[in-house]
Amino acid sequence: MARRLAWWTGVVLLGVAALYVGTWRLWALTVLLWSLYELCFCPTTCGIATGGGAVCRNATHGRLFACTHVPGHQRSKTDALWRPTVRHEPGSRPRLPQSDGAPAAHRRARLTPSRASIAPRQRLMAYAAVIGLAVTVVQTAVGLAGPW
Ligand SMILES: [Zn+2]
Repeated sequence: MARRLAWWTGVVLLGVAALYVGTWRLWALTVLLWSLYELCFCPTTCGIATGGGAVCRNATHGRLFACTHVPGHQRSKTDALWRPTVRHEPGSRPRLPQSDGAPAAHRRARLTPSRASIAPRQRLMAYAAVIGLAVTVVQTAVGLAGPW
């Protein structure tokens, strides 16, 4: 809790300073700090929902990271975050490739991460942080190259 308060205090203070000073550099630093916090340090839950629909409530830090208690959750979370959202009908099964030469046991192992999903709020915050990070990098590159 104290760590979370320290991060948010830093973000708010930087935002107030950026508002007062009025330069894009402090705004970029504020957004960058917030993005870093959301992606790597904010206390949250794993949030992976696998085949049965149960959501993993183990604690973790950062929207990009899953719990370390359950093997495979990190891969599932990474896949679920960056895969476009596709809704399947309840009871339907995703299609397997017809013939990729892999043994059946390996097909099942590859199928499991793609069936995992993630809480919409976690996805939204991770995307917002990544977009904020990308905008900051572009703005910094443009701002440093320009005459202003
Ligand atoms: Zn987990």
